[in-house]
Amino acid sequence: MTDPLSFATTEVTGLIADDAEEWDRTGLLPVDLLRKLGSDGRLCAQVPVGYGGWGLNSASNGAYTAHVGGLCSSLRSVMTSQGMAAWTVERFGTAEQRSVFLPLLTGGELAAVGFSERGAGSDLAAMSTRVRREGDTVVLDGHKVWVTAAHYADLLVLFGMFEEEGDPEGQEGGAVAVVVPSATRGVGVERVPEPLGCRAAGHAHISLDEVRVPLTHVLGGTALPLPLLVTTALAYGRMSVAWGSVGILRGCLTAAARHAAAREQFGVPLGEHQLVARHLAELLVAEQTATRVCEHAARCWDEGSPDQVMATVLAKHISAGNAARGAATAVQVLASAGAADSHLVARAYRDAKLMEIIEGSNEICQLMLARHVLGSAA
Ligand code: FAD
Repeated sequence: MTDPLSFATTEVTGLIADDAEEWDRTGLLPVDLLRKLGSDGRLCAQVPVGYGGWGLNSASNGAYTAHVGGLCSSLRSVMTSQGMAAWTVERFGTAEQRSVFLPLLTGGELAAVGFSERGAGSDLAAMSTRVRREGDTVVLDGHKVWVTAAHYADLLVLFGMFEEEGDPEGQEGGAVAVVVPSATRGVGVERVPEPLGCRAAGHAHISLDEVRVPLTHVLGGTALPLPLLVTTALAYGRMSVAWGSVGILRGCLTAAARHAAAREQFGVPLGEHQLVARHLAELLVAEQTATRVCEHAARCWDEGSPDQVMATVLAKHISAGNAARGAATAVQVLASAGAADSHLVARAYRDAKLMEIIEGSNEICQLMLARHVLGSAA
């Protein structure tokens, strides 16, 4: 029997072919491609086989994510969102919710996950989106910004604060994650114009005006602590972005090495100039370091290690930073050959910068790591 990981990577390579540059230029991924990958569970390959997924463990899902990330960060971003939506359902949904929503996510429905708001970026405790109960329904009011894949999504997993009836200040309710079909009355989706990178990932702002969905769409109850909900959902996204960054580094390393071997200046290949060789060494170190921290984090996930959360933050922080610096190095090695917006290294340069902002910015990751160190010392 074919190994599912090698089948998936071979197939996705063929499906993307040389089209990533065109998708980046037009700012759109082909929806039929997303539906094809989605309907075969390939956008959230960690979902168990029983729910229509591929049941990949974290290490295999990471290798697959890195592969896609090396080809097209926009498609990898859509995968990250789909995987994070599925992970949130897996972790917080009841058995019935899992059996309803996961087959949709492995059956071709596309998903996005919204935490951020205009006044709540790094500080998600400042979220103003409110969810109140009315009989067998809940009503959402608020907004979300910069939601990856929202332009394509059929289902939105949205986070907000629950208001108990008679408690309009939301003092008694907890945080909630609600599955909202994007076609529901009161949902507005407006694309982010001309993002710096991952230009075809369908980033959009979402407005929610008296949006009513069944109470059964609230995942895991109405009184969850916000840090638990957010940290759990984001953990998947962090792993996915970390591996996607590894993919970016691999693409940059290959492009830089090929160019340095082929182009001659001053009568010898560029790679024989020691300062250029140093760039290549730095790129290799960046790629290898990122790979090793991601492998370590994936092992923590697969073994259920208590170090999982910190290993994930570390993997995301190192990989994203390495990708941003590595992509800049690759542009430097190619110089004018890589300076056109459409070139793989130019695209990587724009895409990689965003990896330092999303799923916990560099600074927020550093704060989490520092708190961990201080906590261990106490
Ligand atoms: P701010 O929170 O305003 O931060 C600005 C700067 O200050 C950053 O450098 C930050 O690190 C720093 N900073 C903030 N607080 C501190 C602190 N306490 N200590 C030190 N430094 C600090 N959101 C979603 O919900 N879903 C998505 O799918 C999604 N996709 C995204 C995709 C892209 C390409 C981008 C750019 C954003 C996306 N976002 C998404 C939003 C993203 O999560 C936020 O941009 C991110 O959390 C940072 O918030 P902010 O932009 O409001 O920056």
